Amino acid sequence: MLIDELTQSLLGHIILFITFAAMANKEDIFKKVIAHSKEYGYVFQSSELYDGLAAVYDYGSNGSELKKNIKEYWWASMVKMNENIVGIDSAIFMHPTIWKASGHVDAFNDPLIDNKDSKKRYRADVLVEDYIAKIEGKITKEVKKAAKRFGEAFDQAQFLETNPRVLGYKEKMSAISKRLNGSLEKEDLEDVKALIEELEIKCPISGTSNWTDVRQFNLMFGTKMGATAEGSSDLWLRPETAQGIFVNFLNVQKTARMKVPFGIAQIGKAFRNEIVARQFIFRMREFEQMEMQFFVRPGEEMKWYEYWKEARQKWHLSLGVDADKYRFHDHEKLAHYANAAADIEYQFPFGFKEVEGIHSRTDFDLKAHQEYSGRKVQYFDPEINESYTPFVVETSIGVDRMFLLTMCNAYREENIGDNDTRVVLALPPVLAPVKAAILPLTKKDGLPELARKVYDQLKLEFNCVIEEKDSIGRRYRRQDANGTPFCVTVDNETINDNCVTIRHRDSMEQERVSIDDVRDIIDRSVSIRHNLAKC
Ligand code: ATP
Repeated sequence: MLIDELTQSLLGHIILFITFAAMANKEDIFKKVIAHSKEYGYVFQSSELYDGLAAVYDYGSNGSELKKNIKEYWWASMVKMNENIVGIDSAIFMHPTIWKASGHVDAFNDPLIDNKDSKKRYRADVLVEDYIAKIEGKITKEVKKAAKRFGEAFDQAQFLETNPRVLGYKEKMSAISKRLNGSLEKEDLEDVKALIEELEIKCPISGTSNWTDVRQFNLMFGTKMGATAEGSSDLWLRPETAQGIFVNFLNVQKTARMKVPFGIAQIGKAFRNEIVARQFIFRMREFEQMEMQFFVRPGEEMKWYEYWKEARQKWHLSLGVDADKYRFHDHEKLAHYANAAADIEYQFPFGFKEVEGIHSRTDFDLKAHQEYSGRKVQYFDPEINESYTPFVVETSIGVDRMFLLTMCNAYREENIGDNDTRVVLALPPVLAPVKAAILPLTKKDGLPELARKVYDQLKLEFNCVIEEKDSIGRRYRRQDANGTPFCVTVDNETINDNCVTIRHRDSMEQERVSIDDVRDIIDRSVSIRHNLAKC
């Protein structure tokens, strides 16, 4: 018995150690992803030459291509695949009353709190959510411990529903979350502070609980339009692209001759004066959104809400990410305009976090614009002979968050035997910035010229590079780290047999193929057409 207890306690320590090691490893991986992004021309800190600008980033030669490919993949899945979805490109500057109507002037706030000792500022709700996430982490540890203890006989679902310690944690999480959401809804900021104090949440910098009161902070950036100070008017930089779609609803419906149900898609910049901008490009002050508003008959919104949840999940999975790295998070606290909302979350190295939101926005926005503009914003439905304000289901994903997801998911360090390792960026080929590197084996015997011919055949369809420098092994490694799915090597035999060697990034397998087949081999793997067939 004693030995059993001892073994268990020892096992517990080992598991704890492994969990900590895994956590440390995850943090390490995230740091490596950030460093890799810079080294390979994916992401740079904005204004780095002047010591940087917080939470603003620039995309380099590879980054801008990856970003463009993400946008194209999304646009194809929305606008090209669906005959009832069209795109627009609305301006960033909009009439200021639009933001009054949408509720952003009055309600687009985050509750902020400062620690008096470290002078650091936090989002009060995020402090509490992080606390809840820690409890969730404890449940994960319990599951891991039990799985080890019970081996094959372990039934995780039953364990989660019956284990007293897990049930206690769950109850605590739910009580905290309910209180936080209730207080935020009632704008009871005193209670949010009381909750932080009761939970004894400490500032990670100073380690103290010396907090200021919680205050609301509007996230919109203001600016001015006009030549003179007196004659200028106040404007906002848009905090979401959706309003550009709502105020163009009638224009687009009429000119594109759309019938409900139909959607309007848009990709564009949005700006939010985030209180705490952390985690690299996860939370930025200037970022890009890909949004689609789907207009439906009142009463049909829940059907379409479910439809778009599923469709968006398929889109994510079509990029080859493991399904268990995704989860849905249904909102308990709904935004002022929504009657249902869910986030698609991805398991980043720093935990499960939102990548995309799917919101049933009711008829709130169109009705608000009708009221504030004094113009009728309605749709006449010829099938039922009725005019109404359509309800809206929105899908909204951040380009930069999708970019970060793609990088985190792709980065790996592999042991490839013989004490050799490699860093590989296993990007989905359809998103990879460079599709193929054309490599003449040597710089002589006409091989560079032959390589250029292959390059010229491919360059208008695929983004390719030619590399002559360094040994072929080093060049392969560089392209692996760059995320290039194919290396095409031209050697002395090519002159005789018109064949090249294609090396596949992930398997490192090589095959000898005719130059005439190279285009099709690359296309099968990188084309949007082939990838979206999985949706
Ligand atoms: P969060 O809870 O992370 O602040 P949110 O719920 O406010 O996000 P939405 O308003 O639903 O986000 O915006 C839709 C999408 O836009 C998000 O899922 C995310 O991908 C992206 N996004 C929002 N804010 C930012 C930001 N500051 N930086 C980068 N992407 C963002």
